[in-house]
Amino acid sequence: MGQSNGARDSDMSSMIELIQELWYLKRDLVSDDFDRALYRLAQEIDGRMQIHEYPTGEPCWTWRVPEKWTCQAAYLETLDGRRLIDVADHPLHVVSYSLPFEGDVSRQELLEHLHVHARLPRAIPFVFKYYQRDWGLCATQELRQALSEQHYRVVIHTRFEPGTLKVGEVIIPGESAETFMLVAHLCHPAMVNDDLSGVVVGLEVARALLAGPKPYYTYRLLLLPETIGSVAYLSHNEALIPDMVGGLFLEMLGNDSPHALQGSFQPASQVDRCFTSALRGLDAKGYAAPYRTVINNDERQFNAPGVRVPMLSISRVERRDSPTWPYPEYHSSFDTPAIISSERLAASKQLVLSLLQAWESNQYVVNNFKGEIFCSGYGIWVDYRLNPEGHRRQFEIMERCDGEHTIADIASELEISFQAVQEITNTLYEKGLVWYSREAHSTRPDRKPIIQ
Ligand SMILES: [Zn+2]
Repeated sequence: MGQSNGARDSDMSSMIELIQELWYLKRDLVSDDFDRALYRLAQEIDGRMQIHEYPTGEPCWTWRVPEKWTCQAAYLETLDGRRLIDVADHPLHVVSYSLPFEGDVSRQELLEHLHVHARLPRAIPFVFKYYQRDWGLCATQELRQALSEQHYRVVIHTRFEPGTLKVGEVIIPGESAETFMLVAHLCHPAMVNDDLSGVVVGLEVARALLAGPKPYYTYRLLLLPETIGSVAYLSHNEALIPDMVGGLFLEMLGNDSPHALQGSFQPASQVDRCFTSALRGLDAKGYAAPYRTVINNDERQFNAPGVRVPMLSISRVERRDSPTWPYPEYHSSFDTPAIISSERLAASKQLVLSLLQAWESNQYVVNNFKGEIFCSGYGIWVDYRLNPEGHRRQFEIMERCDGEHTIADIASELEISFQAVQEITNTLYEKGLVWYSREAHSTRPDRKPIIQ
């Protein structure tokens, strides 16, 4: 579609430009700034984004769409009028979805409603109470510790009203109706790595897919508010779920850590095997870990009962035992454009495209041959005296080319990279020894079952 070469249209913004423009917006779940950001992103994809709206109160399976929330003013003062914190200085000074409140409170009562970051003494934390119904402010640990007076004045002017939750969707049609889901969440006011980074990478991936040849799979990119956005979309598109053969949640792709691939709830799925083995060939420092052990996000809704789409996630989350897991500035006012780089975003975009390329080419390898291949006769024999490892691998791969194993199956059985297997099967393909099939195509001879 559209672009005939790799050049970017001059009126399109780069990932880093979009982040600079959108990061400070107050992108709460259902809010005017969330909508502003989504409509702005829609302009970047040439009319290809549909925006779905789900009104406040709309049932979504066991959930309901929340109200639109707006904060007009929020501050904390001493009784003699000295202002200590003010949401006008930073959007995170108020709890997202805080109830309105106005009054003089004791220091003790204030402390119950004044949140700080557990790890960063000088950062304002991101705190949300979407469904708990409470009022609250957020400050630095330093400010909280300096509160010595007996009473303070709190003013929180927030408004709850009917609105519509919005989900942006970009469809990249493929040869097949089988669909691969890409998801990122756009909520989280005034933060960048979580998860505007995943949003802009997702958008760039969608642009690249639209600009390339028609893929085999259909792709759908969803940009949405976390959790409730996924539930709203899935519960209103149940007919699409049977075609969803896999998915990838994109997030935290700008910070300075290696890639982390989190498996799905179904670790034996083709997409799990394909991405886990392909990552080995793409990012030597990257790591893979099971479902729910890297970080939890919207992939939970896709993996859940009644949906069961194997959705993995890709991020740059640190290993779980790191003292700064998932990354040092997580859910704080320090999650700014300063902690990400356009190089890392570009590398993540390339990694996602390479994973999808592997996914597109993951097929059953069907043998045209019987018995072990006469490698010398085909000029593909690897001398075990010069390359014992290569020799052994080649035979291990060839004996699994039986129409019952995909490239990903072979790579995961042998615990080697997808690309290493593909290099050998492509050679066999060029020699006419195998062919690729989207369906299993067993070449076992019919044989009476052995009865013991
Ligand atoms: Zn978050």
